[in-house]
Amino acid sequence: MRCYCCSSKSFDECCGPFIKGDKHPSSAEQLMRSRFSAYATAHYQYILETYTKEKQQGLSVEDLAQSAQGATWFALKVHPTLAASSVDSLVGNLVSSTEDSSIDSTVHADAKVEAVTNAEPISKTNLKSISKPITKPITKPNNAIVEFTAYYFENKSMYQLHETSNFSVEDGKWRYHDGVLHDDCGKIKYGRNLPCVCGSNKKFKQCCATKSR
Ligand SMILES: [Zn+2]
Ligand SMILES: [Zn+2]
Repeated sequence: MRCYCCSSKSFDECCGPFIKGDKHPSSAEQLMRSRFSAYATAHYQYILETYTKEKQQGLSVEDLAQSAQGATWFALKVHPTLAASSVDSLVGNLVSSTEDSSIDSTVHADAKVEAVTNAEPISKTNLKSISKPITKPITKPNNAIVEFTAYYFENKSMYQLHETSNFSVEDGKWRYHDGVLHDDCGKIKYGRNLPCVCGSNKKFKQCCATKSR
């Protein structure tokens, strides 16, 4: 079975280990996906623990369970936002620096050309500044935004929750802070013959529509 977060992986290879506490999400998107899967599987303790400390104040597992009551969360779509993709590519660069070596060399070549065209006569003071190594900050970001749409059924109606969320790192772990809801949140009508919102390539009526109750 595909993971609840609609990734191509299974639950045990995707959000499961995060919810069980065996692993920690290494990106804001992973945390967001695992929180969705926790809602889908009613793991409210995990929802609570993955808020920032500030937001955990005044929240309880009971509150979270109560606010989620009656909703069947069935699909998630993560939107490719500019900020999220740049964060991902930054993390990607850190993980697999060899893959990007071709891009790097092009950038360096261009920089070299520019440096030559803008070359000034080298005096002693210039030499000093040139010999100074160019340091590029290779720090992992501590904040990230992720935009997503989550779909759920309530009283046989279909709803969408479209949010842009703020995440930050606390004690080395990604945490959900808050989010801004978009205007298109609420009850929606979705054609039964359209491709399912979960990305299964099946018709909606033959896929997630069957989870409506
Ligand atoms: Zn997942
Ligand atoms: Zn589906």
